[in-house]
Amino acid sequence: MFHDKEAFVFDLEGVFYAGNEVLPGGVDVLRILQARNLPHRFVTNISRAPAAAIRAHMAGLGLDPGEHRIVAALDRVGRFLRRHYGSGRAYVLGADSLKSVIAAAGFEILHPDEEGKADLVVVGTDENITYQTLSAAARAVSRGAHFVAMNPDVRLPREDGTFSLGGGALVAAVHAAAGREPVMFGKPASFLFEEALRELGVDAPRAVMVGDSLRTDIVGGHNAGMATVWVNRWGVVAGDPAVTADLEVKTVAELIPHLPGG
Ligand SMILES: [Mg+2]
Repeated sequence: MFHDKEAFVFDLEGVFYAGNEVLPGGVDVLRILQARNLPHRFVTNISRAPAAAIRAHMAGLGLDPGEHRIVAALDRVGRFLRRHYGSGRAYVLGADSLKSVIAAAGFEILHPDEEGKADLVVVGTDENITYQTLSAAARAVSRGAHFVAMNPDVRLPREDGTFSLGGGALVAAVHAAAGREPVMFGKPASFLFEEALRELGVDAPRAVMVGDSLRTDIVGGHNAGMATVWVNRWGVVAGDPAVTADLEVKTVAELIPHLPGG
């Protein structure tokens, strides 16, 4: 189906692996992409780990995404914040790794009781959140600080089939309390897709986005101008009539006949 396409962009979690489990076709698709020299990138909203750590995790599962092909939210958010906000004082709900990259981008990271000084509030997944820090973030946004969401993902899947709260759920709480919409950094917003396409040197209409999340991967890929493939794991997730992928598969293995050069 995509024999005229020149580049592929993939989501990672839920496509190639889930937690410590390799998903069907994961190993084969990576091998084919490399063997056929098909230009590709991996774009992930994961906001707690840089590309190097994601690559190491995948290597431990026997998956080889290749060097420098992972466009990871954590590695790119500093550039995004600098471009949009220059510099300033940031109140961050997120992992220490997120605070570190925002500091490295030139922003002063505020302590939990300093939200009154915030120019910017950044909300990601924060396992150390408290009622006080969540309230403080909402107060800063209500007062007029810029409000940036790392991603809209409200659930982080766990290996037992249940979930933990994702950063998107914290974003929703701040949004509800402050009454202001966030600026979205991660998928489905355009920034990470543009980063991947820029590195690939390919215009969006010549590229395909493959992912398991309708709301982030498919909506975002479509809005960016790419063709889309929805990996509807196990085929059990109810579709959304407002969001239609160009191709729906149950596993990434089903994409193999559609890859160019076969
Ligand atoms: Mg995913």
